[in-house]
Amino acid sequence: MLSPTLLAAGTVLSLILGHARSLHDAGTRPVIVMDLDETVIDSTPRRFHSIQKALNEVALTPQERQALSTIGFYDLYRLENRYDLTPIYQKLAISKDTASRFDAYVVQVYLSGFGLEYDVPMAGADHYVQELRDAGARIIFVSSRYDRTQRQGTVANLIALKMLEADQACDVILRPDGMTSIDFKRWAFSQITGDVIGVFENEPENINAMVEAFPKAQAVFMEGAWIHPGPISPQAVQITDYIVGQVVEEPRLTNDQPMMHP
Ligand SMILES: [Mg+2]
Repeated sequence: MLSPTLLAAGTVLSLILGHARSLHDAGTRPVIVMDLDETVIDSTPRRFHSIQKALNEVALTPQERQALSTIGFYDLYRLENRYDLTPIYQKLAISKDTASRFDAYVVQVYLSGFGLEYDVPMAGADHYVQELRDAGARIIFVSSRYDRTQRQGTVANLIALKMLEADQACDVILRPDGMTSIDFKRWAFSQITGDVIGVFENEPENINAMVEAFPKAQAVFMEGAWIHPGPISPQAVQITDYIVGQVVEEPRLTNDQPMMHP
């Protein structure tokens, strides 16, 4: 039996898909606005490789280097907030100073354009994006990745993951240097025209800005990683993956087709 949370998540994903189809059939092109990292893209592998690179490049004592080299790939998935490595640093008895220096370097590597080829879709996200596109929706990605250093790798990886068509690179909006993430998001949202029916984010303040900018759109919040904690608009449905969204047709059983057991 599905839990209410899963049921709501699956239902909302199917509803957005159905809404896109009906608008498309009526001659309108629906628009979906999606964040990338930790919304439709799992960037944890890039973060793990950024840690490995930092291990070779940050000044550390031999003991600190030895301790930090024990961080395993799956340890990152066990964090309550995948963006906050504090519990791991504490477990490894890394001092606050070293942890903050190491962490700052990891983030610098992570946002430098390094390792975008390691990015993978969040569970089911690639399939869901393809379904939305097949339903006639235009998908616009708005991400606080840096335009100058990360555009090329971002576009190449999204095409490789089949989440972007080669001629749609203009639908990837990334952050100019020197802008805060939330200011960039608000500006990008103000540039988007058309019938926006769905918005997807993993940062509380960003989903709230989306609800404000696109009051008629269904807001969907992806749980699991955040930079700034905070309240989430009650209008946003919270999900943990896009798996249930794939079940768009229920199996039908009739008297003519008795259930077969393999
Ligand atoms: Mg994000």
